Amino acid sequence: MNEQTLFRQTRWRLASWSDGVMGIVLTLSGFGVYEAIDHAHRTAADRELQAIAGRLHDNLEPTLQQPRELSASAQRFLPDACIRPHQCLEVTASHSPGDMFQGNYFIRLLSPSGDLVALAGLKPQGLALTSPAAEWQYLKDERNIRYRQITVPLQNPDAPLWGYLQVGSSLEDSDQYLTSVRFAFFAGLPLALAFVGIAGWWLAGRAMRPIRQSYQQMQQFTADAAHELRTPIAAAQATVESVLDMPHLSETDTRETLQVLDRQHQRLSQLIQDLLLLTCLDRQAQAQHESCCLQNVVNDIAEELAALALNNKVKLLTDIQVDQLLWVNGDEAQLYRLVFNLVINALQHTPEGGTVTLLLNEQDQQAVIQVQDTGVGIVPEYQAKIFDRFYRVDSDRSRQTGGSGLGLAIADAIAQTHKGKIQIRSQVGQGSTFIVSLPTETT
Ligand code: ADP
Repeated sequence: MNEQTLFRQTRWRLASWSDGVMGIVLTLSGFGVYEAIDHAHRTAADRELQAIAGRLHDNLEPTLQQPRELSASAQRFLPDACIRPHQCLEVTASHSPGDMFQGNYFIRLLSPSGDLVALAGLKPQGLALTSPAAEWQYLKDERNIRYRQITVPLQNPDAPLWGYLQVGSSLEDSDQYLTSVRFAFFAGLPLALAFVGIAGWWLAGRAMRPIRQSYQQMQQFTADAAHELRTPIAAAQATVESVLDMPHLSETDTRETLQVLDRQHQRLSQLIQDLLLLTCLDRQAQAQHESCCLQNVVNDIAEELAALALNNKVKLLTDIQVDQLLWVNGDEAQLYRLVFNLVINALQHTPEGGTVTLLLNEQDQQAVIQVQDTGVGIVPEYQAKIFDRFYRVDSDRSRQTGGSGLGLAIADAIAQTHKGKIQIRSQVGQGSTFIVSLPTETT
């Protein structure tokens, strides 16, 4: 699968998954909100019904003596009540003018056997007479409007059970409101999902940008590594083939051939070692904890590269500006390699008669190692790139020096695993200074 397809498919999958998850979350929260609204409406309606039924019950109960008979004092509390059930049932739906029931309430008084004795307040058509056995009930009239009803027994302590009081209210308003909530939810969900989908696609693109960059870097790295490995192998192969074509091989020819093969072999194994070190540094989040004295590192490198400096006719100086020993927490071999790479670069890019100075200093609890040279310098546009793997400013010159473009990449990776950094100051024709800052060991 090519890179473009791979990343587009991954982005698409990420966006779809986030959309799916958001869809589930929104649906569940929508149901939750809907249930909460429904519950709040039901509770408020039930409380209201209970309060009205309670008040009526308390007022009516002392006035009720004979079953099925409604005394005059009882009728005071039900001003618009129709006492005869048949009449009541014939009455068309109307609102009661009674002050107590001006809302959407109906009041029914039932006999102990459940027959209608009186009806007051709302008179919805087609509302069934229900058994008084259940306290709370939902009913529907012929227009399919829902009603909530409470039933309470009416019983004067001095008399047998008089009957039952049923108070009900229309749920039309709250049902309408809940319908509009449902509509808003079902209409809003696809819109919200479309928005989340677009946002998810955009966010997935942004989140994948660094992954894509590192994928491209990896691809570039593999291609560069393959190219670098192929070069010495191809050179060695060409040497062997040319020698094999020769009819006679003198001792000098053999020696020369073996020297070429040895050089290519060394180049190859150096490259493999560098690649392994880089892989190791990439995996290593932090350097090993051991104390490393930077004065020793600087002096050892100056000593080791003195011969090369002499050979290149370049002055190699050390300038240790601190009196006390500077200790850094890290891997001594790696820190040695870091400074070594910088100094060897400086020596290779400084013409005869130039100077390379190795400075050691301390600033704000940071050990500062500076590698200054009076060499060719680096143009500003290359300064950020020279730390990239396999990057060479001038291929021909670097090839002459034998570098593969990994020296500064390794130095930078080592500095990072030691929580340090490398900065560069350079002017073309005047020289470069590489400044390494490393946190000193805290005792
Ligand atoms: P190499 O191992 O090929 O030298 P490096 O990663 O060490 O690769 O360096 C990358 C590039 O940076 C080289 O091609 C070189 O031209 C440039 N460079 C490094 N150090 C110096 C320096 N002190 N002066 C000028 N150019 C330098």
